Amino acid sequence: MSIVVQKYGGSSVADVSRLKQVAERVMRTRRQGHDVVVVVSAMGDTTDDLLALARQVSANPDRRELDMLLTAGERIAMALLSLAIRELGGEAISFTGSQSGIITNDRHVDARIIEVRPFRVEDELARGRVVVIAGYQGVSYRREVTTLGRGGSDTTAVAMAAALGAEYCEICSDVDGVYTADPRVVPGARRIASLSYEETQELAESGAKVLNAQAVEFAKDKGIVLYARATASPPGAESAEGGTVVRRFPPRMPGAVVGVASERDVLVLEARGDSDAAAVLAALDEHGVAGKQLHQSGAGEVTLVISRENLHDEGRLRADLAARFGGRVRLIDDLGALSVVGAGINQSFENLRRGSEALTAAGATPRGVATSSFRITWMVPRATLDDSVRTLHRAFLEQPSPALP
Ligand code: ADP
Ligand code: ASP
Ligand code: MG
Repeated sequence: MSIVVQKYGGSSVADVSRLKQVAERVMRTRRQGHDVVVVVSAMGDTTDDLLALARQVSANPDRRELDMLLTAGERIAMALLSLAIRELGGEAISFTGSQSGIITNDRHVDARIIEVRPFRVEDELARGRVVVIAGYQGVSYRREVTTLGRGGSDTTAVAMAAALGAEYCEICSDVDGVYTADPRVVPGARRIASLSYEETQELAESGAKVLNAQAVEFAKDKGIVLYARATASPPGAESAEGGTVVRRFPPRMPGAVVGVASERDVLVLEARGDSDAAAVLAALDEHGVAGKQLHQSGAGEVTLVISRENLHDEGRLRADLAARFGGRVRLIDDLGALSVVGAGINQSFENLRRGSEALTAAGATPRGVATSSFRITWMVPRATLDDSVRTLHRAFLEQPSPALP
């Protein structure tokens, strides 16, 4: 029997009635003749609520203890979903990340999966059971419980699909696929029926929350076909109703923009030339803080963008940077990152010019820009971010390209 891995996000299991609907969908998939592995997120806003609780106790919570706390969210969801499937007459068993054999490094709150040893999952599938796995968590070689970073249940699902040789992996959410922009921000955004791994990974890394970037990276490496779908849609590889399929595709016409994404909660680090760039980067590593779009000038000046998503002890980082580098290192806190994505997007400077002009005309003059072969990212005032997403969506995806001089 072929194995199908389905992942259900927090909004899909936010309350008991939704959880029961998920159990029905799982049973439907089972009746289609598949072995089913279900990866589940914490119910609703549980992870945010647990983080808020930790902050009431500690302004800079210890990362190991945070992991102990945060993994509880998915553990609740997995047990309840297993019970709901059993109520429908299915045979189900729930496992934590550790029990499922998800082995990670020991970078707490932002761990990477190193290998998956799904022996217990395989045994239970062989017994005819549906296996329900707590997403977003694993265990390190030192037997410490870890979490995979926000949105990490997607990663659990893809890693499990790869380890089990699954036919496909469905990521089920409140939105019925990947859109040309966040449909909550751009009402006119369109669903994209098919995307390559590279396009999806760039969208995810640029802040499109619908799929987790690390998950897409895994899928690309292992050639796992991903379906991003609404939980309300019917299951199945051939399900015609909407969704986005992510898999290997021949390259599109280079230069076209496929989507706009943004990341609101970022800090921009600027280090002056006399600050010793290597020491600044070493300090970030000591704090387990990853930066992106790093730029270092010949004069030793460094700028980079830090995502706050998995930075739960910012106060400690700020205090340490101030103690070591004083005013030579600044953290700028009023910008957001705004990206357009597409293969070969920078073959000429036309897209860059068009985007910059549109933003400036709309009064959101960019404060910096970075490019790669798949992406252009502008740093814009955070207060204008959503408007700027709409501006770029209009400029690139709602009208035929006007010829630039
Ligand atoms: P889940 O809890 O199911 O993992 P998430 O909240 O992580 O769901 O991701 C789904 C959300 O991602 C949607 O509600 C949508 O607002 C947002 N989103 C951001 N960018 C996009 C995009 N390009 N396409 C679809 N959804 C997007
Ligand atoms: N519950 C975790 C989060 O909120 C993981 C996930 O939903 O994928 O980030
Ligand atoms: Mg998610």
